[in-house]
Amino acid sequence: MCERLVNEGHDVICLDNFFTAQKSNVAHLLGRPNFELIRHDVTVPIFLEVDQIYHMACPAAPGHYQFNPIKTIKTSVMGSINMLGMAKRCGARILLASTSEIYGDPLIHPQPESYWGNVNTIGLRSCYDEGKRVAETLFMDYHRMNKVDVRIVRIFNTYGPRMHPYDGRVVSNFIRQAIQGQPITIFGEGEQTRSFCYRDDLVEGIFRLMNNEDGFIGPVNIGNPGEFTIRELAELVIQLTGANVKLEKRPLPPDDPTRRQPDITLAKKHLEWEPKIPLQQGLQQTIDWFRSIDFDHYRPPTPNFV
Ligand code: UDP
Repeated sequence: MCERLVNEGHDVICLDNFFTAQKSNVAHLLGRPNFELIRHDVTVPIFLEVDQIYHMACPAAPGHYQFNPIKTIKTSVMGSINMLGMAKRCGARILLASTSEIYGDPLIHPQPESYWGNVNTIGLRSCYDEGKRVAETLFMDYHRMNKVDVRIVRIFNTYGPRMHPYDGRVVSNFIRQAIQGQPITIFGEGEQTRSFCYRDDLVEGIFRLMNNEDGFIGPVNIGNPGEFTIRELAELVIQLTGANVKLEKRPLPPDDPTRRQPDITLAKKHLEWEPKIPLQQGLQQTIDWFRSIDFDHYRPPTPNFV
């Protein structure tokens, strides 16, 4: 997002507490006169003068957000209040990075924005799922009560270069494991599905939503409707890396959603957006990036990490 905004000529202030991000991901922007980087945690108020806010803070990979679940929900609740307060004070437009996780383990397939979800309030994923649900509520209430110009994007599984190789997510795990010649860890039977959107497609969708002048059109799903089982993903990664590795079954984590696929009718209609990069091509670009990095530069987030 930063790269895109800087290249578009915007004056960008990037706030990051670096819990999951790497400074190396934005190091190339540091010399640009329209880019500024501040180490800051959004649970703490901050006073800046801005006209657009992309509120994307919160670890999104289960391994990261479950590391400190209380901090995760604080990030979504207090972080949203702080950012919405800034939007209100400055009269800025503000976009929330929400998530397909607000649909929980969906009973409707594919998921349209009108679906209210099937979410466990007391499970291991709740700190993230419920945090983002509260964030959406806060955005709506600031919109209704204070006329803040809000945007809500529901982001489905996303992958691409510069993702954290030890974030524990399925794409990063499988590619890293294949490159390192380790077994591919399949949780459960691998029959659960996800729909994977390439990073650049997501950035384009978010950018269009922020700059859409149709007014508030409600939350918008941004994701790639191409749906794959986890086993199919493993086979594709093995094929593209040419790795000679086995599949190894691991227990399915609790509350792991069975199926997930975005209905993107709304994004197509209002944003004229749809993803352009098919999974095979996006995976190849991600694999090339994973091959170019030094894994020792990144550290696993938790001791029991696979
Ligand atoms: N998964 C897997 N092996 C891994 C990591 C994840 O089989 O090494 C599965 C996980 O159980 C889930 C799917 O892949 O069903 C996507 O997991 P991820 O953590 O990437 O995202 P999320 O569950 O939040 O969609």
